[in-house]
Amino acid sequence: MIEPTNILSKPCGRCQAGHKRLRLVTLMTWLDDELITVPDFPAWICDICGHRNYDTRALAQLSLVLNPEAGQPVKQRTARPTNPPSQSLPPIS
Ligand SMILES: [Zn+2]
Repeated sequence: MIEPTNILSKPCGRCQAGHKRLRLVTLMTWLDDELITVPDFPAWICDICGHRNYDTRALAQLSLVLNPEAGQPVKQRTARPTNPPSQSLPPIS
C-alpha cells in the first residue's frame, strides 16, 4: 500500500517517529536590540516531540522584509561627512 503524498506533512528528523505538520505560530526573534514578534508565522511542528522548524521560505521572505538592503550588492557604507569644529571657529584678530 502506497501512502498518499501529503505536502503538509513530513517525517520528523528529531524523534524519527512523529510527523511534522505546517502550523501557524508566533515567531520571536531579535533584530539588533529589539525583540520582534511575527504572528501567524508558518512552522513545521512535530506531533510527537514538538520539535519545530520555521518554514525556510517564510524565513527568507521575513529577512527580506526586515533588511531593506537585502538583494543589493554588499558595499561599504560611506560615513556621513561631519564638519570639524575647528573650521567653524571665527578667525582670531
Ligand atoms: Zn518529532
